[in-house]
Amino acid sequence: MKPVIALVGRPNVGKSTLFNRLTQTRDAIVADFAGLTRDRHYGNGRQGKHEFIVIDTGGFEPDAGSGIFKEMAKQTRQAVAEADVVVFVVDAREGLSAQDHEIAKELRRLGKPTVLVANKAEGMKDGTRLVDFYELGLGDVHGVSAAHGQGIRDLVELALEPLNLPDPDDELEDDDVNKPIKLAVAGRPNVGKSTLINTWLGEERLVAFDMPGTTRDAITVPFERNGQHFELIDTAGLRRKGKVFEAIEKFSVVKTLQAIESANVVLLLLDATQGVTDQDAHIAGYILESGRAVVIAVNKWDAVDSYQREQVQRQIETRLPFLKFAAMHFISAIKRQGLGPVWQAIAQAHKSATRKMSTPVLTRLLLEAVQFQSPQRAGMFRPKMRYAHQGGMNPPVIVIHGNSLEHVTDSYKRFLEGRFRKEFDLVGTPMRIEFKTST
Ligand code: GDP
Ligand code: GDP
Repeated sequence: MKPVIALVGRPNVGKSTLFNRLTQTRDAIVADFAGLTRDRHYGNGRQGKHEFIVIDTGGFEPDAGSGIFKEMAKQTRQAVAEADVVVFVVDAREGLSAQDHEIAKELRRLGKPTVLVANKAEGMKDGTRLVDFYELGLGDVHGVSAAHGQGIRDLVELALEPLNLPDPDDELEDDDVNKPIKLAVAGRPNVGKSTLINTWLGEERLVAFDMPGTTRDAITVPFERNGQHFELIDTAGLRRKGKVFEAIEKFSVVKTLQAIESANVVLLLLDATQGVTDQDAHIAGYILESGRAVVIAVNKWDAVDSYQREQVQRQIETRLPFLKFAAMHFISAIKRQGLGPVWQAIAQAHKSATRKMSTPVLTRLLLEAVQFQSPQRAGMFRPKMRYAHQGGMNPPVIVIHGNSLEHVTDSYKRFLEGRFRKEFDLVGTPMRIEFKTST
C-alpha cells in the first residue's frame, strides 16, 4: 500500500505550496478530463521508485473554539490518524510561534512519526534561525523552500525512511496466470457495497480469511469463482465482522485511495436511486488517476422505473465522461440480478490491463496508423514516429519513439489510443501513451 504523508501546520506556512510541489509530477492519462472534479486536499506523489499519497490539511487551529475552525481541527486530526508520517511545517522567516508549540504538543500526543520542516528557508544560512525550532521537542529541523523546490527530495526521503518500504522492484508482477485478481469495490456510503460483497461471498467458495501481517497491509479476503482466484480488498466504509462485511458510517478518502491503489480492478458502485453525486465523481476521479482498470456497476436497479433508469444512464455519460472506456452494468445486489456479466467485465478489464504487447506488433500498428493518418506539422516541425514498445502494465503504457514528438497534438494521441485499443481489445482499463524524442 502506498504510504500516506499528512502536511500539518498553522495557516500560511506554505503547506499548499509544498503540497503542489510534492504532487505535481504525474503522467497524464490519455482520457477526457472534462467533468472531473478534483479534491485538492489529496494527491499522489512520486520520488524515484516510491509513490505516496499526500494530504494537505487546511490548517491546524488547536483548541479552536467552534464552527469552521473546530471542523478543521477535527479533519486535521483525522488526517493525522490516517497518515503514516506527519510533516509538520513551520515558517523559517517568522520563527517560532505559540501556535507551533500547541501543534507540537498535539502531535507528540498523537505519537505519529513526525518530520519537522521549516519552510521559506531559501537564502537563509543554515542554522541562523532554525535552531529555535528544536524547542518544539520534535528532533531535527529541516530547512526547505517549497516555493523554490529546495530540500524537497531530502524531505521525502526523511519522511519515508522510518517506514522501511519494500523496494517496488521486488514486487513486480510475475507471469503466474493463477495469481489472484485484486479487486476493490469502491463507492460512497449506502450504495450497497456490503450487500453486494456478502451476496458474492455467500455464493462463492471462500478460501480462508487471512490476517494482516503488519498494520500497513491491506486486509484482503481471498475467494474463488469459476476457477479464477480473487482477492477482495477492504474498502473505505467497510469493515469485516466475522464472515460478513458491514458498512461503517465514516467514509475515508485515504482508505478509498489505498484500496484503489492496491487493486488491479476497481468496481465502482453507484446507486440508481441517487444518480451520480459529487462524491461519486470524486471517487471516479481517483480511480482514473490511479490508472487502475475499472468496471461500473449501477446498483438498486430493482428500485427505479424506466424514466429514472434513463436519467441515470444519461448522468453517467455527462458526469463521468472520462470513464467511457469502462464497461457499465446494471445490477441488483439484493435480488441477485445482473451479477454474472459483472464478473465477465472484471475478468475482461483485468485481461486488458495486463495485456502483453510485443515491440514488433506495436511498431507495425503504429506505422499503419501513421500511414492511415499522419500527425500534423507544427510550424517547421513534423513529428516522426519510428517505433513503439510497451512501457508498463495495469495500466498499459505504450512508449513511442521518434523525432519532434513534443509537437504531437492531443487529438492525434487520442486517435492513436483508439487504434491501439481496438487492435488489442483493451476494454475497461485506462492506457497511457508516452513519447520519447531522440535528438
Ligand atoms: P498554507 O496556508 O500553509 O497552505 O500556505 P500557502 O502554501 O498558501 O503559502 C502561504 C504563503 O507563503 C504564500 O504567499 C506563498 O507564496 C508563500 N510561500 C510558500 N512557500 C514559500 C517558500 O518556500 N518561500 C517563500 N518565501 N514563500 C513561500
Ligand atoms: P454500503 O454502505 O455501500 O455498504 O451499502 P449497504 O450494502 O449497507 O446498503 C445500503 C442500503 O441499500 C441498505 O438498506 C440495503 O438494503 C440497500 N440495498 C443494497 N443493495 C440494494 C439493491 O440492489 N436494491 C435495493 N432496492 N436496495 C439495496
